[in-house]
Amino acid sequence: MKIKITKARPHKRKPKPTDESTLGFGRLFCDHFFIARHNDKKGWYESAIVPYGPLKLDPAAVCFHYGQAIFEGMKAYRGKDNSIYLFRPTENIKRMNVSAERLCMPAMDPDLFMEGMKKLVLLEKEWIPRGHGTSMYIRPTMIGIENALGVHPSADYLFYIIVGPVGTYYATGFSPTRIFVTEEFVRAAPGGVGYCKAAGNYAASLLASKKAMDMGFTQVLWLDGRERKYVEEVGTSNIFFLIGKNLATPNLSGTILPGVTRDSVIQLARSWGTTVEERPISIDEVTAGIKDGTITEVFASGTAAIVSPVGEIFYKGTNFVVNERKIGPVTERLYNEILQIQYGEKKDPFGWRVKIAGP
Ligand SMILES: *Cc1c(COP(=O)(O)O)cnc(C)c1O
Repeated sequence: MKIKITKARPHKRKPKPTDESTLGFGRLFCDHFFIARHNDKKGWYESAIVPYGPLKLDPAAVCFHYGQAIFEGMKAYRGKDNSIYLFRPTENIKRMNVSAERLCMPAMDPDLFMEGMKKLVLLEKEWIPRGHGTSMYIRPTMIGIENALGVHPSADYLFYIIVGPVGTYYATGFSPTRIFVTEEFVRAAPGGVGYCKAAGNYAASLLASKKAMDMGFTQVLWLDGRERKYVEEVGTSNIFFLIGKNLATPNLSGTILPGVTRDSVIQLARSWGTTVEERPISIDEVTAGIKDGTITEVFASGTAAIVSPVGEIFYKGTNFVVNERKIGPVTERLYNEILQIQYGEKKDPFGWRVKIAGP
């Protein structure tokens, strides 16, 4: 399908930030976005790159009332020689369509998705910051927009991709997080939508995060919805434990988001000869392991930070301190190697990197 490009007038374009250290995350967007429409009869149609701006939607649009809204999160990286790379983009495309299927939304054509994304990133190439750890964040989104009430799958959809420069997550160095284990709230239940990037999951998590933050914690650790016994995720990231010499992470049971970073950590660690177990991990095993010193590192994984060390886990009135609140050697090695693969500084034996522009 042909993607029609309408460029923003020069005087309508935003000034590019000059100080990369103030970028932060998710507040600044580039001058254009990709958009495509879908209905049952035509399939995907009118795909275009257009000047960034508000969408005009009917107040009765299905997404506002019944939550047919899904998204993805990925990044484009600028290498030292100015090459531009994506990291495992086909994984995000596949995952978006898994989310779409669960929410009765149409699958996005993978070729149109990739093509639209590459064209948009290349059009906005100058926005991709240069500093190590900085990148261009890519947010594909799909919403049901039919204007009709009554709970039903929308007949019309918008798919769009917005992009914007983001700063390095570790502007002030690694600072191990303080995690609150919530027993009051659950993120996902068996048979639900925990494995999808469905917008409603994040709305449902806000109160738990807010309560944890009000108590001085960085994030919540979610337990399983059935027994409140097994560890699932931390905030909006997957979680790993170094237990003795082995890494362990919860298995993908349907209530856990299958992170691309999670999978990259597993593959990379296995390539070093490290055993990685994907299995149920109880919170009691975690607290006992931290206490007796068999668990020496805990970290979260996700696109935003790659890996983020956990320094404290608070459970049932006791604070369990991990590795004296310092980043551990395995966490640090994973961070460095994944970062170097993403920025084209290291051989990529896994074929994860997709170069979309040369130097
Ligand atoms: C996006 C997300 C992750 C991390 O996925 P990545 O593909 O590694 O960025 C983990 N958990 C939740 C709930 C998420 O939304």
